[in-house]
Amino acid sequence: MLEGFTPWPQNAAERYRTEGLWRGESLVDLLDTAARAHGSKTALVGGDRRIDYGELALLTRRTAAGLRARGIRAGERIVVQLPNGPDFVVVCFALFRLGAKPVFALPSHRLQEIRHLCELSGAVGYVFPESHHGFDHLALAHRVRRELPALRHLFVLGKDAEGDAVPLAEVDADPVELPAPDPSDVAFFLLSGGTTALPKLIPRTHDDYAYQVRAAREACPVGADDVYLAVLPVEFNFTWGCPGVVGVLGAGGTVVMAEEPVPEVCLPLIAREGVTFTSVVPSVLQLWLEAREWMDDDLRSLRFLQVGSAKLYPETAERVQPAFGCRLQQVFGMAEGLLTFTRPEDPAATVLTTQGRPVSPADEIRIVDEQDRQVPVGTVGELLARGPYTLRGYYRAPEHNSRAFTEDGFYRSGDLARLTPEGNLVIEGRIKDVIIRGGDKVSAAEVEGHLLTLDSVARAAVVPYPDEFLGERTCAYVVPAGQAPSLQGVKAALEERGLAAYKVPDRLEIVTELPLTGLGKIDKKVLAALARGESTSWTTGLLPSTGTRAATTDSE
Ligand code: AMP
Repeated sequence: MLEGFTPWPQNAAERYRTEGLWRGESLVDLLDTAARAHGSKTALVGGDRRIDYGELALLTRRTAAGLRARGIRAGERIVVQLPNGPDFVVVCFALFRLGAKPVFALPSHRLQEIRHLCELSGAVGYVFPESHHGFDHLALAHRVRRELPALRHLFVLGKDAEGDAVPLAEVDADPVELPAPDPSDVAFFLLSGGTTALPKLIPRTHDDYAYQVRAAREACPVGADDVYLAVLPVEFNFTWGCPGVVGVLGAGGTVVMAEEPVPEVCLPLIAREGVTFTSVVPSVLQLWLEAREWMDDDLRSLRFLQVGSAKLYPETAERVQPAFGCRLQQVFGMAEGLLTFTRPEDPAATVLTTQGRPVSPADEIRIVDEQDRQVPVGTVGELLARGPYTLRGYYRAPEHNSRAFTEDGFYRSGDLARLTPEGNLVIEGRIKDVIIRGGDKVSAAEVEGHLLTLDSVARAAVVPYPDEFLGERTCAYVVPAGQAPSLQGVKAALEERGLAAYKVPDRLEIVTELPLTGLGKIDKKVLAALARGESTSWTTGLLPSTGTRAATTDSE
């Protein structure tokens, strides 16, 4: 068992096993079983590659042997950052075979995130594309390795003409016998959407993830005839396992990888490959809905569209069926575990206005007030969750874990929710300090920490403001140190530091001081109201122009 991993308590684990939820099945078993049953059927489509189940199983065996020959061993962590494509699946399943643990980085991550993930996980390897969207990942990889001596292995999708990063194409050897991975051990790490200054690692075991995809498949019936389009980054839990890539591979279906979520790429792919379902965030849905007015691709194969990861408004939800001729399934989920789905048999009103019910009968949810007391049905409170695929602790974060969980092991989601009398969940907001920008989660504390490293910034607070397209964007309130910085200057400085672009503030407001609560903490409620363009009783720190209009945004 991986050191630093918090397992479920023994009695809970025993119950999940006795009830047949955890079946002692690894993700490798899941692929091999599908490969035995569906050998010559197409498993993966990406670009012009089509890989059948037999080939996929063999490729993952050869890659596992290749990685082993290069020195990767069971238990070691490897940061994997690859764009949507078959290589991501091959590398991850190869690592599962070896018992090594992939740490899922997003393609948009840059120096700050990659260095942090490598350091926190104690990674010995990093798998990355030579370049992606014009960004030189090779240079980043060499820099991180210079700074972190534990990072011994670099594997590049592409080549490294001047350096020693090993091309993934050369990670190939004749298959070797490997001990089966322990199903109760960590299979891989997802990233937290994060409330803390630095993202945390979510360990997911074979048992718990194999169960998650099975439970998700029950709530969202998917079988061997289904074709799933992976639209969002495959490293998202939503794309990877709700039921997503892993669930569809486990069912013998076909996974088609879209390189970009834009309608110009995805809608023709749906028509060409006969895609039966996919999963998107509301901002991507919005783009597709607009495109539907001028793109008439034949989407008759589409049975349903999963939408989740951020608030979906009923007015947008209503447009799905007419625009795509398919059903909508609302999804609420978190990389930490708990998933709720609306069901195919639900009445329209439930599908349009709620985020559905937990996918597993063994999921336990509580909605509580500030004293952790359960509130009556219909009352809004914080959502707590516990269950067979909800983590019991972040990796190597004991101090944070003592706050993030109740004593009896419920995870504090930081989301505000209520239950309808029928038992459906409605997400009403959140108490955690996170901005949900499209599908990306931005930790305010993380961005504030970076702002404070700039010479021009004395104090900073980051809050969301509504955006028609992304749902929310980030606004930074800054008390300058000397000459006030410009938005452009701040953006350039944060990108120069190597922060992922989606975390860089969209808007900057200069203030002479920040509002404080009675307890002396920054009053984010006041700032969020100002950012929404509302007036508040706090005016002391405002410059004459602030509060009535954005000081600087991109469009200016
Ligand atoms: P992540 O772990 O990145 O998937 O982020 C999980 C968080 O996304 C949740 O705790 C919620 O704050 C938010 N979220 C996920 N699904 C929804 C949804 N359907 N509606 C509103 N917020 C959502």
